[in-house]
Amino acid sequence: MSKVQLNNLKKNYSEVEALKQFTLEIQSGELFTLLGPSGCGKTTLLRTIAGFNKQDSGTIMVDGVEIDNFPAYRRDIGMVFQDYAIFPHMSVEDNIAFGLRNRGVSRHGIKNRVSDALETVQLSGLEKRMPKELSGGQQQRVGLARALVIQPKILLMDEPLSNLDAKLRIELREDIRQIQKDLGTTTIYVTHDQEEALVISDRLCIMRSGQMVQVGTPWEIYKKPADHFVASFVGNMIFLPWPLAGMKDQNSEKIREIESLSGLNINASDHDKFQIGIRPEEVVISNQTSVLDGNVISLSGIVENISFSGREAQLHIKLIDGNMLMANISRPDETFLEEVGKTVYLELPQKAIMFFNKDNGLRC
Ligand code: ATP
Repeated sequence: MSKVQLNNLKKNYSEVEALKQFTLEIQSGELFTLLGPSGCGKTTLLRTIAGFNKQDSGTIMVDGVEIDNFPAYRRDIGMVFQDYAIFPHMSVEDNIAFGLRNRGVSRHGIKNRVSDALETVQLSGLEKRMPKELSGGQQQRVGLARALVIQPKILLMDEPLSNLDAKLRIELREDIRQIQKDLGTTTIYVTHDQEEALVISDRLCIMRSGQMVQVGTPWEIYKKPADHFVASFVGNMIFLPWPLAGMKDQNSEKIREIESLSGLNINASDHDKFQIGIRPEEVVISNQTSVLDGNVISLSGIVENISFSGREAQLHIKLIDGNMLMANISRPDETFLEEVGKTVYLELPQKAIMFFNKDNGLRC
């Protein structure tokens, strides 16, 4: 178990600033994820930690020791790649044993450790197979075993599930999480799949343009996004002007009440500097025209269309001012599918409403 500290890491590729003064601390035994849109610098950061890239400035420390001048093979780091990167001409056991042979481990030691690694990734019995005789998921398990067998201080995983189909991705991500928890190896995981990041991580860092935007647990990132970017990148969020058009006819007392329950006191003349965000699963479809509850905003709208995905249905609702709101209905009744074109009443619970400053995007 090892602690990783990244201090002011900077990396440019000619005029592209891939990492801008990046500082981060990853705790011993954590499964820590770097999540962000394509091109935000995730792979650059991972490869810099691995020693495949050299940063322009800044330091990387593992357990308090600076590793910047160590070549990749001396960093005690295991890496799993998106495209598996296993040797096609070697059997499963030879692939896994490769790193151990280079480290001068005895034949007996190699045999035992390869057998343990195969058991860990649930491939026992397949040691003599060649990579082409394995499925994509099994090949990635070999990639994982090969990284783990050297008992690295740190495990780096660069989009390890991206080449697999949806069902296998879910199965393997659960196994990766379990194996990581059992072994306790500090792991830095890269993905651009936000659901995968939430499910697998102890903590995650949301990156944008070579910088960190927010670090937190999956709960914090989802429930308390730092700004508009995080709120919209992780999960779905609908942003609407404040106050909501349908509310303006309601008294200004209601508007002030909602603001005050949210810890805000906004001058009416400053309303256009704010917008609100709400997640579709928080919107409640109601059968009442108006709810006399201070903690709820009641609105109405017309259902424009419904998308049904088995587990839930999503209603796309047009509000009075033309803005669209989405509402997720879990375990939908078949009658929901007949709602298109009809007026529905909605409740937005105050607790689920987030206020954002339009100037800097920050959540208030
Ligand atoms: P993706 O999710 O698409 O893999 P990423 O977040 O991993 O993206 P990086 O691959 O780290 O992003 O790239 C960060 C930035 O640096 C991008 O603008 C990319 O185009 C640029 N970049 C990466 N590698 C090089 C390189 N070898 N030469 C020049 N520019 C590069």
